[in-house]
Amino acid sequence: MTAAEHAAYSRWLARNVHTHQNPDLRAVTLSFKRLGQYPGDATADQLDAVAQLSELFSAGEVRVTHDQNLMLPWVHAADLPAVWRTAQQLGVAKANVGLLTDMIACPGGDFCDLANARSLPLAEAILARYQDLDELDDLGVIDLHISGCINSCGHHHSGHIGILGVDKDGKEWYQVTLGGSDGAAISGAPTPGKVVGPSFSAHEVPDVVEAILDTYTQYRLSGETFMASLRRLGLEPFKAAAQLARQATVASQPEESLA
Ligand code: SF4
Repeated sequence: MTAAEHAAYSRWLARNVHTHQNPDLRAVTLSFKRLGQYPGDATADQLDAVAQLSELFSAGEVRVTHDQNLMLPWVHAADLPAVWRTAQQLGVAKANVGLLTDMIACPGGDFCDLANARSLPLAEAILARYQDLDELDDLGVIDLHISGCINSCGHHHSGHIGILGVDKDGKEWYQVTLGGSDGAAISGAPTPGKVVGPSFSAHEVPDVVEAILDTYTQYRLSGETFMASLRRLGLEPFKAAAQLARQATVASQPEESLA
């Protein structure tokens, strides 16, 4: 391996490879959160390739995870370099598992008749904005969940940052919630997120998410997670940042695009 490959492999080991009850084995998450495809989407060819990967390295077993990735649950530790190389070739080795861009997004208005609003363009915009793995690592574990309506297939209520599509006067708007937890150890006791002020338009949401994250990096204590900062600081500084982002976005948009 070159030095660059070794660094990428080490990052992947730390982020996408998980311990196993059997010390000789590992569970490997293949990340389906990458530019050019919506969260969790896969082509038939990609799924065929993952099936072959599982035949070679995971006793023929693949599991679908609730956060829209695939997992190989029975990988021998000695096979990890080969699995990484193949996953890289397939474009599913991005070391972002558990980070902001490892988001959950429902199909929303692009595919679902029940939707109030589209989910996928928001997911794509946020994914495009946060491509730097060093920046994502620095932000740490953050659950971003997006639902296109109150049916909540994207589990927006349990996201550290949740986005819910709502219909107002026949137009698409989005409620942003903060502090939701699914009960995982990193998130704390299960609780729904709290709404951050009035709804935002689609073109405001990526700026609002960025403003919330900038507030976290500005005020966090050393080693403090996003959720811990949120609990210590309360909602107010994050709400204020979201409202400022709204005003900045409104000011920068031509009037007709805000209708
Ligand atoms: S949350 Fe609503 S829009 Fe999204 S998949 Fe479920 S029913 Fe459809």
